[in-house]
Amino acid sequence: MIFINGVCRTGDWASRWQFGLTTADLLRETQRRFDVEGQRLVELDSYVAGGQRLWSAVWRSGDWAHRLTVGRETDTFLAETQALFDREGLRLERAEVFLEGGRFVWAGSYRSGDWAHRFTVGRDTDTFLAETQAFFDREGLRLTQAIPCTAPDGSLRWAGIYVGGDWAHRFTLGQDQNTFARETQRLFDAEGLRLDQLVEYEVGGTTRYAGIYTPSGDAHRFFLGWPVQDFAAESQRLFEEEGLRITAAQVTPRRGKGVRLQLKILDAPSVPIPDMLRSMREVYASVGQLVTVEGTENLNLPLLTDLDAGGCGGTTTTEQDQLFANRNNVGADDITVYFCRSVTDVAAGSTWNGCATHPDGQPGAAVSSIATRWTLAHEVGHVLGLRHCDDAGARLTDRLMTGGGTGSITNLPPDLDASESSAMDASALTVDL
Ligand SMILES: [Zn+2]
Repeated sequence: MIFINGVCRTGDWASRWQFGLTTADLLRETQRRFDVEGQRLVELDSYVAGGQRLWSAVWRSGDWAHRLTVGRETDTFLAETQALFDREGLRLERAEVFLEGGRFVWAGSYRSGDWAHRFTVGRDTDTFLAETQAFFDREGLRLTQAIPCTAPDGSLRWAGIYVGGDWAHRFTLGQDQNTFARETQRLFDAEGLRLDQLVEYEVGGTTRYAGIYTPSGDAHRFFLGWPVQDFAAESQRLFEEEGLRITAAQVTPRRGKGVRLQLKILDAPSVPIPDMLRSMREVYASVGQLVTVEGTENLNLPLLTDLDAGGCGGTTTTEQDQLFANRNNVGADDITVYFCRSVTDVAAGSTWNGCATHPDGQPGAAVSSIATRWTLAHEVGHVLGLRHCDDAGARLTDRLMTGGGTGSITNLPPDLDASESSAMDASALTVDL
């Protein structure tokens, strides 16, 4: 399956993202967009899927001179980059490198400009970090792209693109996904820094993330490990409704385990469903579980929009039986989530954020319009067999499965512990994706 790491942020330019391009497609499409649409390549990423070398690319409207090269070995690439700088005033803006036949193969996207520029290759991690700091301190150069690549001997090497500038700048590397997500949010909230570039890489068999942050007032969203069709749909929605453009996109094909959701919408919740999905993916990713949306359907069921879920103690009400019978396109391993206006215990007069009690053989949950951004993750946790972690004692408000209501959660994102992770893994509803 194909997953995307990416950034969307405020912009007013024409913008286009495509993936699954062969090298010939990439070259042809970049030329066509330059000639016909007045668009320039600004992001490129290479990956292998189905045994084939493929590319993802972002273009935007622009009027600068541009050059794209693909398939150069290191020495050629370095010489060409210098020559384009010296003779044509072109700066390397984005580079990509991969191993092919035991050699590094490079691609470069260049643009006209007058800024100071530096390009380094082949640095080990410590050297790269020290050099990046020294460039910042002594030469006013800011890192704008960090490019990791595993050498034939298995060691991790870095290339870096630097430009002259005077803006604040932060660079992190070596973080796991959860730490990276948390730190990115903290830098946004506390320091007004926006994630500009991110890259996922492997070191010693584990997945790590590097990020480059710069100050900005832009609206901003970042995506870690989103299934490609979900990223495509959400980035299109952000473009149309919030004026955000894709400014970074990395494709990461991998096999994974996780849950398949079917969304059935009777009434739209106050917290938008994409935000609930983002929160769910964040916390599920922390225990290695992916989340895909297999289908979305609007349901017009006025008599079930305000759902009587009874005591939500494992025995379904008649209304729950009726609601969960709506299974258009739902596979046996899919978890169906019904978004209702309210989910209540009519007899007791109490209301629920959601309820995961469901008929046998129809796994799923109901979520109320008053749900928090963590309710979806919490209720699906119940569907996977998790219980409240704290019904017997003091409330554990840093845990997803707190029984005190997900509105009480602090220290975001909430945690799933090792036993909960094992239970999710053991559930028949976490499947290979
Ligand atoms: Zn609960």
